[in-house]
Amino acid sequence: MELVTRAGWGARPSRYDLVYIASTLGVKIHYEGAYVPKSLADPGAHGSCAGHMRDIQASHLANRVEDYSDIAYNAAVCPHGAVFEGRGLHRKTGANGSQTLNTDDYAVLAMLGSSGLVIPTDPMLDGLVDAIGWLRTGGSAGKRVLGHRDGKATACPGDPLYAWVQAGARRPDGTAPQGGTSTPVPSAGGIARYQVTINGLTYGFGAKGPHVAEVGKALVKAGFGRHYQVGPDETWTDADTRNFSDFQLSLGFKGTAPHQDADGVPGPVSLQRLLGHLPGKTVKASVVPPFPGRSAFALGRSNPAVTVLDHGLVRKGYAHHHAGAKYQPGPLFTEYTRKNVADFQRATPALAGDPDGYPGPLTWQLLLS
Ligand SMILES: [Zn+2]
Ligand SMILES: [Zn+2]
Repeated sequence: MELVTRAGWGARPSRYDLVYIASTLGVKIHYEGAYVPKSLADPGAHGSCAGHMRDIQASHLANRVEDYSDIAYNAAVCPHGAVFEGRGLHRKTGANGSQTLNTDDYAVLAMLGSSGLVIPTDPMLDGLVDAIGWLRTGGSAGKRVLGHRDGKATACPGDPLYAWVQAGARRPDGTAPQGGTSTPVPSAGGIARYQVTINGLTYGFGAKGPHVAEVGKALVKAGFGRHYQVGPDETWTDADTRNFSDFQLSLGFKGTAPHQDADGVPGPVSLQRLLGHLPGKTVKASVVPPFPGRSAFALGRSNPAVTVLDHGLVRKGYAHHHAGAKYQPGPLFTEYTRKNVADFQRATPALAGDPDGYPGPLTWQLLLS
């Protein structure tokens, strides 16, 4: 199956945390309704499908009536058969019509319309079966496959696709979807194997990076390293999960089954307790060089601080005044420099009272931060 991850199609972040769901009874199939251009199914048009996905997400994020957290579907399938990750595995859909319906089944969208492109392509049917299999294997989806109209008064997913659902949701070669659970089963023999992102860094089975090694070393140091045969190193293994679970239990967290508090996958609280800080990709506040003193800025005089000042002006877009083609950073404080600084001061409420164009400490600070 060809899976296009959220990063792969350029998804925007969710508006709210998506609700975790352990398992479902099955999967419901949807179409877009409305008009989908037939040209989307052209063999050479697959390059447009990611953009089509972004458009659907944007329309859902803009829908303040439904107040969607994200694109409503767990996955979407394009006419070329690629599976686009929507809300993804173990996330409650927003597409099935009510809280109960959304808890009962995942939702998969076929990029099919009520006009224009109305007949599913063979690759799309293969992709839908791929998506169902993905949700069964990775998301503990149950065996049933239904249409949106089962349980809700709607034309969705359209007659041609609904006929396919009723005929068993088979691949064009006749193969029925495989897998599917009747009762939820814990993954990997009871060891949690999902990942979480905290402060821009990923933790949990398969996560990689120096931050993973940092957690491992801290676990060993705190006396929670008994499951390591080797390592710890920069790849998160089941041993990391088991050790982290021991640590969580020591904090009084309960429950070691996947998605319970002591399942060995970090949360911000346990991570902070272990490390004493929360690692993250947050950009450090840029360091503003010390104010060089007012004497550095005199008309017609050069000072290295003027070059620093000029770069700030250019970066913030206050380079309107210049002698020739373009305002160039340099050590000479000119009348152009002064006028550009004055523009910045006028545009900045804290400085607008005295827009003389000569930098003081506050102008320096605000321009360069
Ligand atoms: Zn629908
Ligand atoms: Zn496509």
